[in-house]
Amino acid sequence: MNSYPKIGVLALQGGFSEHIRSLQSIGIEGFEIRKKQDLNRTIDGLVIPGGESTVIAKLLDELDLFDGLKDKIDNGLPVFGTCAGLILLANRFHAINVAVKRNAYGRQLGSFSIDAEMKNVGMIPMVFIRAPYIESAGKDVEILSVVDGHIVAAREKNVLVTSFHPELTSDTRVHEYFKKLLS
Ligand code: GLN
Repeated sequence: MNSYPKIGVLALQGGFSEHIRSLQSIGIEGFEIRKKQDLNRTIDGLVIPGGESTVIAKLLDELDLFDGLKDKIDNGLPVFGTCAGLILLANRFHAINVAVKRNAYGRQLGSFSIDAEMKNVGMIPMVFIRAPYIESAGKDVEILSVVDGHIVAAREKNVLVTSFHPELTSDTRVHEYFKKLLS
């Protein structure tokens, strides 16, 4: 990898521009992946943002992006999924061995923000928006954060996922942790 990593950010729907801004602030070029040709660019890592997982899944198929991305992820490309990105990495790409509960916090707690600990990262602000959590994880999954008894951040090999949205805060430490996975 060169000294100025290039990260493709899936830009079909949801919070992609916030990720690009977070990446930029730690010296990473984030470029938008909107169509199949974008996968031909040099790519050191991938971000799948939050949004609506059913909509993103549909667009992945319609735009014929799914297979190309799955190949790259299966071949070890570092990938970071937030919220809907977590759901897609678990349920569609089968890239991380976790069971995810969608919209897990119900209506009243639909959106909230807390400070909590994430392993290898520290105490960070966590913004949850109609978030999923991880109900159970396979033995090769490293659990990175548990909030109120529910797993909200985890990693398996090249795949990092969070239920919450670090890109919606000014704290860049989760993106910096992802940067360390790029090699
Ligand atoms: N509830 C959304 C879904 O199921 C995820 C919410 C988010 O990404 N902020 O796809």
